[in-house]
Amino acid sequence: MGATYRGRFAPSPTGRLHAGSLVAALASWLDARAYGGQWLVRIEDVDLPRCIPGAAEHILQQLANCGLVSDEAPVWQSQSSAIYQQALDQLIAQQRAYLCGCSRKDIEQTLQALGHEKQRHGELVYPGTCREGLHGKQGRAWRFLTHTTGTTHNALGAPTHWTDRRLGPQSQAVVTEVGDFILKRADGLFAYQLAVVVDDAAQGITHVVRGEDLTDNTARQILLQQALGYPTPQYLHTPLVLAADGQKLSKQNGAQALETGAPEAALTALNQAAQLLGLQGCGTRDNRGIALAAWVAEWRATLQSANT
Ligand SMILES: [Zn+2]
Repeated sequence: MGATYRGRFAPSPTGRLHAGSLVAALASWLDARAYGGQWLVRIEDVDLPRCIPGAAEHILQQLANCGLVSDEAPVWQSQSSAIYQQALDQLIAQQRAYLCGCSRKDIEQTLQALGHEKQRHGELVYPGTCREGLHGKQGRAWRFLTHTTGTTHNALGAPTHWTDRRLGPQSQAVVTEVGDFILKRADGLFAYQLAVVVDDAAQGITHVVRGEDLTDNTARQILLQQALGYPTPQYLHTPLVLAADGQKLSKQNGAQALETGAPEAALTALNQAAQLLGLQGCGTRDNRGIALAAWVAEWRATLQSANT
C-alpha cells in the first residue's frame, strides 16, 4: 500500500493554527506517513475577505515547528480561479449548474410560503426557485443542480451514502437537506465546496483526513465529484477539541493560537493533539522526531489491525 497515497492538510488562513486544527494536521500527516504516501498542504483562502494577511505564512511556520512540512510547494486557492472556472463551465455545459437570482430574503419568503422554513446550521435549504429560469430576475450566483431528473423539489431525495473510516456509514439526502448549493457566489468568489473538490482532484488526493466539523460537507463534495467525473477519495474525520463550554474549539470562540516557537512548546502541542487521537506515550518523549516516528508506527499498526 502507499505508492499512490496522496493526502493533504488544508487550513483556512483566517487566524493562526490552534489546538483543534493541529489535531487534523497531525492526523493527516501520520496517515500519509503510515501509508508511505505524500502529504501536501493547501492554503484554503478562496474566501479572501475572511482571510487575515500573513496568517497562511504563520500557519506554515507553526506546522514546520511541529515537524510537519508539505512534500510539495503549498497550493493557494486564491491562485486557482482558472481551474474552478473550468469546472463550473463543465457543469454549466452538462446542465448541472444554473444561475440563481434570489437574495436571502427571497429564499426566506419562498420557504415561508411553502410552509417549511427549514434552517440548517443557520443556512437556508434552497427551495430550487431558479431551476427553471430566472423569471426576469438578474442572475447573482451559480448553483449546483443536486438531482438530474424530475423538476419538483423533493421529487428525488435519494441519499448519498459514504463510509467514514472512523465514523462508519454516513448518508445525506443533499437535495432535501441542503438544496442546490452555491458554486460561485454573487460577489464573484468561488464557493468552498467547488474549490475543495477541484483542488482534491487536481492534486490527485486519495485520502482526506480532516476535522469532524467538516463531515457534513462530504455528501455535497461527492455529488460534485460524480458530476465532474472525479474519483472520490477515502474520508477520515478526526475528533474535535472542545472548548470549556463544550462547544467546538474554533477561532470564533477564542481558541488560543498555538505556541510553537520553542521546541518544548511545539512538543507539548503535538502531545496534546496525539492524546486526542488516542495515541500512546504522550508526554514521555522529549524529542519531536522520536515522538513523531513512534506515532507513525502506532498509526500504521492500527491500520494493519483494521485491515485484518
Ligand atoms: Zn434562485
